[in-house]
Amino acid sequence: MAKKEFKAESKRLLEMMINSIYSQKEIFLRELISNSSDAIDKIYYKTLTDDTLTFNKDDYYIRIEADKDNRLLKISDTGIGMTKEELENNLGTIAKSGSLAFKNENELKDGHDIIGQFGVGFYSAFMVADVVTVISKALGSEEAYKWESTGADGYSIEPYEKDTVGTEIILKIKENTEDESYDEYLDEYRLKSIVKKYSDFIRYPIKMEVTGSRPKEGSDNEFEDYKEEQVINSMVPIWRKNKSELTDEDYENFYQEKRYGFDKPLKHIHISVDGTVRYNAILFIPEKTPFDYYTKEFEKGLELYSSGVLIMEKCADLLPDYFSFVKGMVDSEDLSLNISREILQQDKQLKFIAKNIKSKIKRELEGLLKNDREKYEKFYESFGRQLKFGMYSDFGQDKEVLQDLVMFYSSKEKKLVTLDEYVSRMPEDQKYIYYATGETNERIEKLPQTELVADKGYEILYFTDDIDEFAIKMLMTYKEKEFKSVSSGDLGIEEDNQDTTESEEKENKDLFDFMKEVLTGKVKDVKVSKRLKTHPVCLTADGDLSIEMEKVLNAMPNNQNIKAEKVLEININHEVFQSLKNAFENDKDKLKLYTNLLYNQALLIEGLPIGDPVEFTNDICKVMV
Ligand code: ADP
Repeated sequence: MAKKEFKAESKRLLEMMINSIYSQKEIFLRELISNSSDAIDKIYYKTLTDDTLTFNKDDYYIRIEADKDNRLLKISDTGIGMTKEELENNLGTIAKSGSLAFKNENELKDGHDIIGQFGVGFYSAFMVADVVTVISKALGSEEAYKWESTGADGYSIEPYEKDTVGTEIILKIKENTEDESYDEYLDEYRLKSIVKKYSDFIRYPIKMEVTGSRPKEGSDNEFEDYKEEQVINSMVPIWRKNKSELTDEDYENFYQEKRYGFDKPLKHIHISVDGTVRYNAILFIPEKTPFDYYTKEFEKGLELYSSGVLIMEKCADLLPDYFSFVKGMVDSEDLSLNISREILQQDKQLKFIAKNIKSKIKRELEGLLKNDREKYEKFYESFGRQLKFGMYSDFGQDKEVLQDLVMFYSSKEKKLVTLDEYVSRMPEDQKYIYYATGETNERIEKLPQTELVADKGYEILYFTDDIDEFAIKMLMTYKEKEFKSVSSGDLGIEEDNQDTTESEEKENKDLFDFMKEVLTGKVKDVKVSKRLKTHPVCLTADGDLSIEMEKVLNAMPNNQNIKAEKVLEININHEVFQSLKNAFENDKDKLKLYTNLLYNQALLIEGLPIGDPVEFTNDICKVMV
């Protein structure tokens, strides 16, 4: 049976393609400039193998001209040009890439910069133009040709006059419609900003006539208007330069030019990898927290370039959430792009780069912590919280990456310390890493629960961030040392008066039982405190959920009214205890009053709301009269 060929309705196919593969119309300029850059590259490669040709840099450029009155936009280049056949084949056939063929013919595998590969970019011009005219003269050819098309209806080719080798693409820009303005593609500033955005690092000069105003020569206060042709792209990407050629100022300028932030970067990281996946990256750690950093509006991500052409403004997959503060860009020629070159075909290379970047950032931060503590503390003040979130999120998947980067305020050092510093100076008899939670360092300092541990001379880490205790619970241990809240039941401290506590507990069992009865539904137990020295009472938690965690969880929008199991601890060496005993013997109502008062006091110290403030103040008055 004879095989039949598929018939493609090329008109419809072209229309579909033009209108559906690109998410933004402005991309057409990127595509046409990339083609021009490829065309110049091809001449350059030819000169490498052909002795009769020389490559004089000044002769090669791309020019953009807008003619508002006639709605014409012209992109011309001094590249290799196209013969009549090439115009037919490359522009007349969708999905035919002369550039890909050139790469294959010339075996340009390594270090190639030629951008084109899909053979569709050119047609993006029809997103903004009704008519596209291409005038081209190929290298080594005597004749020039004009190719013209209105898109779907096909094209015409005829001989044309053109003196120099190269190509001119002339777009007849569409009229504005009700919901789309095309005028912007004739506007000098708009065109300039599109070039800056996508094509700033094209290696050849992109020239355009620009107008502006500048101080008159020899005068301080007089200005003159000018209209002149300027090169509007930066050309040499700083990430392709040698690190040794660059100064801190160069990096700072790049940071500001790119508007990565309004601050100065705290640190830059310049990466050049030449392995299985080649890439260059310049990353920055900002100095200040962006105002929207801890909000839903904040979008993480790095700029992604493919051979110097911007592909994505914020590629989120390149950064883990806990390093979301990092700004900067990645450029790789090894990415597999889809045909619109807006998204990646498969992310194997991207995953590789992301992993690489993650460990580089970690190493840089560790280095900063070791070698420039002051700077690290500045960084930590801005972004430390994000690192702690990172330790907690994804079920602690990356906690090991982060455990040596987090810091907490120390009761002894009176400044931020790392877990390593804490553990390395632990006395031999100390079993746990102790921490206390509270709103501020000042408040934690005064917490009754810290008394015994502090008295023992042990260091306490102060947890003032909501996330702290959750993060540490996820970590569980550091260098095999468990974390212990100063409020937890068993502090692991051997007390000399262990026996006395137990006998006191027995002796006063009825008193404690009575108090427990009074506080039914509020506390799980009332008992003799081993940790209090000067304070009469405190609240501690029995079980995994601490009082601080209860506070955090209940502040969340989907508050489930979670309660920690609270224990009221009584300091039997405090004078108040004598009053409790007396009241138990002589006046049970008084004991009830005292119990409620002490419980509410403990709540206040803990920073928890008291159930009935009016009752509490009435109780105080009762004691006074
Ligand atoms: P791609 O750039 O992906 O190859 P295009 O549709 O943009 O696809 O272009 C198709 C082909 O037309 C290119 O591969 C190239 O051979 C040729 N071409 C396009 N623009 C130019 C130009 N300015 N100068 C020379 N050749 C060009």
